[in-house]
Amino acid sequence: MRSNLLRTAQCGLRYLSRRPLLSHGPKVAHQCYRGFAATPATREEKQWSTPLAKHLSEAINTTGPIPLATYMRMCLTGDIDGYYTGAMEAGHDQFGRKGDFVTSPEISQIFGELIGVWFVAEWMSQGRPKQGVELIEIGPGRGTLMDDILRTIRNFKGMTSSIETIYMVEASSELRTVQKNLLCGEDAEMTEYIRGWHSIYKCTSKYNGLRIVWADSLKAIPPESNKTPFIVAHEFFDALPIHAFQLVDLPPTQQPTTPESSNNKTSSPDSAATPKREWREMLVSPTPEGTTHADLGTPQAERHDPVPEFQLTLSSSVTRHAQYLPESSPRYRALKSIPNALFEVCPDSSIYASDFATRIGGSSTTPKSRPSGAALIIDYGPADTIPANSLRGIRQHRRVSPFAAPGQVDLSADVDFGAIVEAATIASPGVECHGPVDQAYFLEAMGVQQRAEMFWRKLEAGLYADNKKKEIESSWRRLVDRGPNGMGKIYKVLTILPENEGRRRPVGFGGDVNP
Ligand code: SAH
Repeated sequence: MRSNLLRTAQCGLRYLSRRPLLSHGPKVAHQCYRGFAATPATREEKQWSTPLAKHLSEAINTTGPIPLATYMRMCLTGDIDGYYTGAMEAGHDQFGRKGDFVTSPEISQIFGELIGVWFVAEWMSQGRPKQGVELIEIGPGRGTLMDDILRTIRNFKGMTSSIETIYMVEASSELRTVQKNLLCGEDAEMTEYIRGWHSIYKCTSKYNGLRIVWADSLKAIPPESNKTPFIVAHEFFDALPIHAFQLVDLPPTQQPTTPESSNNKTSSPDSAATPKREWREMLVSPTPEGTTHADLGTPQAERHDPVPEFQLTLSSSVTRHAQYLPESSPRYRALKSIPNALFEVCPDSSIYASDFATRIGGSSTTPKSRPSGAALIIDYGPADTIPANSLRGIRQHRRVSPFAAPGQVDLSADVDFGAIVEAATIASPGVECHGPVDQAYFLEAMGVQQRAEMFWRKLEAGLYADNKKKEIESSWRRLVDRGPNGMGKIYKVLTILPENEGRRRPVGFGGDVNP
């Protein structure tokens, strides 16, 4: 029997974006005990699709199957042929029509402008601090969003002069250069500095000469309690590695013998009827020779591709992660009552959320005298359930197996907004969260219609050709499309703000109740 996790739902890429499948609640799956057999030596002659595929296969032959999170990390940000960090084919661009996917800032400049206006509104609401403001973007892609934000903010002189540093957290050295070219100019030179274990790079923005600092990790940017950080992460959390678990009923021979189960007098009717269950981790291993798409349960749309070189298997024993991650939150513990439940956990996402929260609100050990700043997280995932079965691969605007051509396929998974809220509020007593709200709701509250009308006036003034007019009109409408697979519905916006007992609802989130 196969796991549902292998059967990713089929869903056409109408928007050619990295948008998700329809959101899922906890899913049930048939038990999957596909065993792992170390790849025989003859396999070494196999032609692997990418250098990373060969490397992964060799590593797994040595260590045994690897957690999904390890696979994702190696595929996306590993040194060997990682999708973002490795040596992609010369000239390959992940973004845009010729790349693999498009994102909202690349679709319409109005998106970034409204995010800029949101930060200005927050800066004003927080008493217009005159100094110590930091703009931090995590996973900035081509730098388009920050460019649109900075172009917008420069119209607000008070805020511009309060900005001390703009930080760009970017794992890819190639994308850091693309971002520098856009924000500082092609001729501008980045200067490299060593900070602790990290290299950081500096350059000057073309907007008001603001200082921009690049780092490959947020850890390279020390939190300081006298700063006001405004943080944005758009389509970043979905690229963070996930662990996936499935609940299995232990076979009768493995049902633990406890005094309770062996002594009918003391056992409750429930304990006699409920089988013992364990969380098992989904692991990645090479696909055995001769495996077919039917064996793997590959969705029809992906069956004209070669059989993926890797597959998910269910661990036959309880891994270290299966021991502690499903116990790490009451939200996960509640799933244990659902037979065959599946769910995904993204520990990195909680680490980032905790980091954002402590920068804004301080922590119990390093309190901030006055919490300040804000984080805006825009991504896709269910608003109020735990993601399951959501890993997907995208290549050249097409859904492909996440286990094919490792390092050349974009991988992403639904974001667990509930886990972000939980991690942020546990990490800092000085923050509160609002949302997630649908992107359409947020952008409309931010005045997307009015901003588009300003464009119209320029259009009517004849500054654009007819086809350009149509493109501008359809692009912003695409961002707020509330259809079942529309970007306005599927993308969600969450904010982490200084704690205020929920009294001041931020613009874009009016009326929403915190989870
Ligand atoms: N925000 C951009 C790009 C989204 S793609 C947009 O919306 O257009 C994801 C981005 O995150 C890329 O820039 C990628 O290089 C970066 N990234 C992925 N994993 C990362 C990590 N672990 N640390 C830092 N950057 C990462």
